[in-house]
Amino acid sequence: MDLPNLEDQISTLPTGPGVYLMKDQAGKVLYIGKAKNLRNRVRTYFGKSGDARLSLRFLMPKVRQVETILTDTEKEALILENTLIKKHKPRHNIDLKDDKTYFSLRFSVQEKFPKLTLVRKVKRDGARYFGPYASSAAVKETLRILRSLFPLRTCSDSNFRNRSRPCLNYQIKKCLGPCCGLVSPEKYADLVQEVILFLEGKNSQLIKLLQERMTEASGTLHFEEAARIRDQIAAIEQTLEKQKAVSQTPNDQDVFAFHRQGNVWEFQILFFRRGILVGNKSFHFSRINLPEEEALAAFLRQYYAEEPSIPHEVLLPLPLEDEPLLTEWLSEKRGAKVEVHVPQRGDKKSLVEMAQKNAEHAFQKKVDETENLSLLLQELKEKLRLRSLPHRIECFDISNLFGTLAVGSRVSFRDGKPDRSQYRHYRVHAPSFPDDYGMMYEILKRRYSKLELDEEKPDLLVVDGGKGQLNVALAVLDELGLRDLSAVGLAKDKGPIPKRIAEKTADKIYLPNVKDPILLGHSGALHYLQRIRDEAHRFAITYHKKLRGSRGLRTILDEIPGIGKVKKKALLQGFGSLRKIQEATVEGLSQMESLTRKDAQTVFEFFHPPTEECGMKAPDK
Ligand code: SF4
Repeated sequence: MDLPNLEDQISTLPTGPGVYLMKDQAGKVLYIGKAKNLRNRVRTYFGKSGDARLSLRFLMPKVRQVETILTDTEKEALILENTLIKKHKPRHNIDLKDDKTYFSLRFSVQEKFPKLTLVRKVKRDGARYFGPYASSAAVKETLRILRSLFPLRTCSDSNFRNRSRPCLNYQIKKCLGPCCGLVSPEKYADLVQEVILFLEGKNSQLIKLLQERMTEASGTLHFEEAARIRDQIAAIEQTLEKQKAVSQTPNDQDVFAFHRQGNVWEFQILFFRRGILVGNKSFHFSRINLPEEEALAAFLRQYYAEEPSIPHEVLLPLPLEDEPLLTEWLSEKRGAKVEVHVPQRGDKKSLVEMAQKNAEHAFQKKVDETENLSLLLQELKEKLRLRSLPHRIECFDISNLFGTLAVGSRVSFRDGKPDRSQYRHYRVHAPSFPDDYGMMYEILKRRYSKLELDEEKPDLLVVDGGKGQLNVALAVLDELGLRDLSAVGLAKDKGPIPKRIAEKTADKIYLPNVKDPILLGHSGALHYLQRIRDEAHRFAITYHKKLRGSRGLRTILDEIPGIGKVKKKALLQGFGSLRKIQEATVEGLSQMESLTRKDAQTVFEFFHPPTEECGMKAPDK
């Protein structure tokens, strides 16, 4: 399709607020932005004099089309921009992945008898959420303290519904026993109120409330209760003393900073809750060539679009053109005023500097990791005699039970990290007896015959197994004309168990056209392969267990030709377990009244297939 030249396209763009999408010749979205005045904004990218967005210069030659979507307000544009970035994932935009690395406390206040749990994802489900906490250790400690101070229920909802007697927590006074009606909803609600005051940091209010309750209890001669509250107040005061406030502001604050080198960025957020630093979070981006102000604004928009917990105050390292809009949007999301500041001096400035130092530190850590990874890939390339660095590795494993319910797994690692979007399970259709080669052949054939033209090929294929499995892999690659793809086999050491435990280094790696395998030894690079193989194994087993659970182990007997319901029942009754049937001899099986000698032979052969018929012969290479 012939597109009008860019100058003509820009001159006809609307001048109202909205979102612009820059696309290449094929219509692929390269960059998405929002603007108060679409035409003016887009023009700045292409103007001869240019402006701060000059750093997007390298992108401009690829842009062939600019599309716009008008909105009524700039705030609507901001929301639409986020949605479109999530949808198109343009390479040059900042796109925050759904991050599950931090924790919050969920208080199910919508229930009659709420409980506190640790969660990764904050939902709009009527519960109250507190946090976020960056480390599980920090949040677990908070939960432990809370449970020691407040006797909330800790059981699961189904356990709660089905109890006829309270559990041990009631006996040791760690729960008031709502499951069995041992506390009224009103009294439990008092407890809930105390917990919320504590989590909100309204400590003096909490102590005052407890003191009132203590006075009331002793006034009505409930001395035991009064003594309990007295101890609780002492415990809370002790806990609060230990929590050292860092920020002078007792409000909730999110403090942002970033460190940048070229087009690689590290953003850092410090979370202060009630003046206490409860956690931090880091985000790493590469290939982002935006000016600092624009990158920070884009990051904030993306971050808060997903984040339901909005603090009272947001501290930034530099002023943003969008600040009034951001303040308005955040206040609307929070349902109360939010302040956005760029502190120039004093304590708040120190907090931004602290975030800055953390950003630098996190950046350096990633650089070191990347360097280590490059060394590791280099070592792997040399040891395995590969043509190129194995950036992308795929590994396959098979799991089966007597050849039935056979499943295969594929895991994929990219630059040292699991790429779960490329993990796959396979139900193996091949024969009904254990045939490792046949099964491996089938899943490899299925995987690589569907390799899309534009799909990124793996640099290395790893099969779980020895020479036989490797030869199967090579045969498949040969058949499919994928001879440039490297393959190795990683076989578990089959030596005696004590030796294997003592020497986990004895696994062997088989290379094509090399007679003797390489011992894993103490090479970090080769252990990296082992980790990938173990992951493939774990992934296959998980799926296998799931299938087994859904089909039931007994249905394995259904797979034996000629063994119907009656004979199956007799076998299970006679031997008591599948394992015992598997271990029985032909003679033992023939003792069963309902089984003929031929049946006994069939059952035996099902579990002990003759090796010479065992499926595909591994090609010799
Ligand atoms: S006493 Fe009842 S409500 Fe409390 S934790 Fe035990 S089972 Fe749950």
